[in-house]
Amino acid sequence: IFEPAGRIKGLPKQFFAALVGKANAQAAKGRDVINLGQGNPDQPTPAHIVAKLKEAADNPLYHRYPPFSGYRFLKEAIAFRYKEDYNVELDPDTEVAILFGGKTGLIEISQCLLDPGDICLVPDPGYPDYWSGVALAGAEMRFMPLRKENGFLPDYAAVPAADANRAKLMFLNYPNNPTGAIADPAFYADTVEFASRYGIAVASDFAYGAIGFDGRRPVSFLETPGAKEVGIEFYTLSKTYNMAGWRVGFAVGNAQIVSLINLIQDHYYCSLFGGIQEAAAAALTGPQQCVKELNALYERRREALFDELGRIGWKADRPGGSFFCWLPVPPGYGSAEFADLLLERADVVVAPGVGFGASGEGYVRLGLLADEERLREAVRRIGALGLFG
Ligand code: PLP
Repeated sequence: IFEPAGRIKGLPKQFFAALVGKANAQAAKGRDVINLGQGNPDQPTPAHIVAKLKEAADNPLYHRYPPFSGYRFLKEAIAFRYKEDYNVELDPDTEVAILFGGKTGLIEISQCLLDPGDICLVPDPGYPDYWSGVALAGAEMRFMPLRKENGFLPDYAAVPAADANRAKLMFLNYPNNPTGAIADPAFYADTVEFASRYGIAVASDFAYGAIGFDGRRPVSFLETPGAKEVGIEFYTLSKTYNMAGWRVGFAVGNAQIVSLINLIQDHYYCSLFGGIQEAAAAALTGPQQCVKELNALYERRREALFDELGRIGWKADRPGGSFFCWLPVPPGYGSAEFADLLLERADVVVAPGVGFGASGEGYVRLGLLADEERLREAVRRIGALGLFG
């Protein structure tokens, strides 16, 4: 009986909600499902962070409304971490916005900067939430294909000038979901040049900033000279500290964009529960050994997985970062068809590449989100289908 608003009619069902639904339906049949589909870290939050929340929950100050745009101590903790890890100076008062998970900021930035008819450049394949924000803003997307031969980096020279001239915003995401690619400083220097030339705001999604393999340290976009003039970086505690359920992230960089995001957020939810903000500050300023260990854990899992892939003859490149493996599907299969086949016949959930954009066709994304033995078991089950080698 209700007529949904135009802006929501075109919004597809959230991609991972649909995927989780399929996996649950298979598990409900009594099957032993190995779910490597959603990017949901399987490890617990480090104990010192949980302890901080428990202690903070008793503070009656936090039972009242938090300050609009959040507590200054968390903004200081964020600035501290960026200085320590990336040697980037941030003003906690003007260059930091606290987010209800990284996701909200990635959607809000489109509402901050895009009007109907504006263009947003999005990576293809890429994280589907970028599209949702653009759709809700009524703006148009132009895909920047990420090709293997370019290291899964966009080719700015291939963006038609007409699109670049109309574009107001672009998304980037390294370490990359879904391809596992990492960007280097030279690419970010090109990005600043391209963005300044056309007056495009850059939204760098650094959700996997803590996960780089083979000794490679992922670079923050804000390390690039001139980056703060053109852009903002989104970060989340979900992956770095296994805090996906806590819903806490932040945006840092360009002060004008930060203030626009804070403006929207103050209307939506003023800020997060103070106890969560205190625990998040403890995560960012406390010992970082847990982050190193997590990185090492994902690297060991990657090796276990690729060892087993080699045994069954599934040829693929190792990811340089993030916790995703981007695996080519065997000839003759579409990515959605292949993912369905793995679920139905091997009880293994992977995400079909096409869910990340048309250029993702031909791949599936597998998350390193189970222990080494379960990952090996998943590959052995796939191997038993006899599709490789
Ligand atoms: N960006 C990317 C590329 C992601 O993969 C995710 C989560 O999966 C997020 C952002 C959002 O993280 P959160 O909303 O948990 O902070």
